[in-house]
Amino acid sequence: SYIWYQNELLPRQAVQISPDDRGYYFGDGLYEVFRVYHGVVFEAAGHFDRLERTAKALRIPLPFSRSVMEEKLQELIRLNDVQTGNIYLQITRGIAARSHPFPAYAEPVLMAYAYPYERPLEAMRHGISAVTGEDIRWLRCDLKTLNLLPNVMAKQEALDRGADEVILHRSGTVTECSASNVMIVKNGILRTHPANHLILHGITRYVVLGLARELGIPVIEEPFTLEALGQADEAFVTGTTVEITPIIRIDDRPVGNGAPGPIVQQLQTAFDTAISSR
Ligand code: PLP
Repeated sequence: SYIWYQNELLPRQAVQISPDDRGYYFGDGLYEVFRVYHGVVFEAAGHFDRLERTAKALRIPLPFSRSVMEEKLQELIRLNDVQTGNIYLQITRGIAARSHPFPAYAEPVLMAYAYPYERPLEAMRHGISAVTGEDIRWLRCDLKTLNLLPNVMAKQEALDRGADEVILHRSGTVTECSASNVMIVKNGILRTHPANHLILHGITRYVVLGLARELGIPVIEEPFTLEALGQADEAFVTGTTVEITPIIRIDDRPVGNGAPGPIVQQLQTAFDTAISSR
């Protein structure tokens, strides 16, 4: 497979990464995961907007223009023959001797690759289980940075507890999951945490809220409690790779009647139409 590293498209084994890359020392960088359907990047503009917003907040200058990046991603898709798949792209602050301050001279380092990845049809159809856990992350969860240790720890704890995913909360207020946003339905109303500094502003979240509005499903973007989560009729996660996946058990209790509910199925159908018409 091919990797876009700095100015080159290289076979994976030819890529040489510096031990002094600040991505290793400090997690000093940002990333994006793009979805590819029918060989085309889905919702590219939203992902690039978020990439630019994160880069600006971290004061990492983007090494390439959006049009060059778009062109290169399309080349990766073609070189790796991806129809349905993902693209991972990361940019670190650069290479310099280990020291906390921003280096005086450092060129940002870009690395990206594309790979086939099927839609998670089983999980989407039958649903997944989740446990709840304290959200111990920092206060800029809106930035898509490489610092993912709290997410990794939370996900592993969920797996160790026999669940598929973890629903994070800050002192009883539900935020999101380890790598997806979370939504609930109660009495026909869709609820999800507002897009502020406490969650990642998911592209899929945005697409799904748009579909809900088109379908006439009332949407409330306000924080909700663990108690509300426990009493929800439906719950589901949204994310680039998980799409819209129902949660059918939380902390060993069924959500609603323990099967994917009508609203999540309606949204999944609308999402299917959205991805096949682009
Ligand atoms: N929340 C977190 C913490 C994530 O890592 C992700 C990324 O997959 C999401 C939410 C969902 O965002 P998106 O829909 O842009 O993939």
